[in-house]
Amino acid sequence: MKTILNADLHCHSVVSDGTLTPEALAERAKNNGVELWSLTDHDEIGGQARAAAAARAQGMHYLTGTEISVTFIGKTVHIVGLGFDADDPAIREGLARTRGGRGQRAHDMADGLAQVGIPGAYEGALKFAGNHDLISRTHFARFLVESGVCKETNEVFRKYLTEGKPGYVEHRWATLKDAVGWITQAGGVAVIAHPARYKFTANEEYALFTEFKNHGGQAVEVVTGSHTSAEYVTYAETAREFGLAASRGSDFHSPDESHTDLGTLPLLPGGLTPVWELLESRIQ
Ligand code: AMP
Ligand code: MN
Ligand code: MN
Ligand code: MN
Repeated sequence: MKTILNADLHCHSVVSDGTLTPEALAERAKNNGVELWSLTDHDEIGGQARAAAAARAQGMHYLTGTEISVTFIGKTVHIVGLGFDADDPAIREGLARTRGGRGQRAHDMADGLAQVGIPGAYEGALKFAGNHDLISRTHFARFLVESGVCKETNEVFRKYLTEGKPGYVEHRWATLKDAVGWITQAGGVAVIAHPARYKFTANEEYALFTEFKNHGGQAVEVVTGSHTSAEYVTYAETAREFGLAASRGSDFHSPDESHTDLGTLPLLPGGLTPVWELLESRIQ
């Protein structure tokens, strides 16, 4: 695999909180020039067989993918897994357990919204969920936009779905150690997703990167739809400092909602090890 490559190793389908099917995403990725693709649904690998087949049909290389929700020092962190064996029982079981709490959480979120005069949010959100095992805040956001409570999903998050707001529910996701362990023991590479999003202090971020490495994590997203161009530079430096490989992914969810389309971000900066160089034997 070339070092300089249009790789998009982070996006979501209807199997989690995206609005396109794995097949439609593959077609869109190909049309945008993607050469190596991965579908990384939240806590789910139910779309992997379809995504790999669609990539093959489009003539794109493929890596298996997922984005695992983790609780680290009381905050939610996302760990992307790439190139693991999707039939591995431990990662399958771990993801099923991570998804497991989402049903009750969704009911609790709906209760919070009902208390501020927004009834029926559980049923409303469920209508938007392509996979009823994977009901997420994004589906609530779509329901609140559809019902006219807010104009766009960003506004819903700001007013209703973030810490301290009526539809926000504290939740315990997987541990960092477990998430990294499931991915690496299944032959894959663990990647810290969009590190700038967490708004950690320097000490917290140092702890995240240090513990991630100690657990066997090997890469970090440098170029992502969630980073500014200044943050590409910052996290390229962090990757070098911690000896991590670098990943690139749009985090595309929907043509109507996402500002970054598949395959359109700048390429990885030079002087970094692209994550796909660690995964040569896992590329399909
Ligand atoms: P959940 O896993 O249910 O907590 O939902 C998290 C998802 O919500 C993320 O993966 C994003 O897709 C979406 N999200 C989080 N914050 C925002 C925001 N400010 N605006 C739009 N979508 C967001
Ligand atoms: Mn999402
Ligand atoms: Mn994420
Ligand atoms: Mn994502």
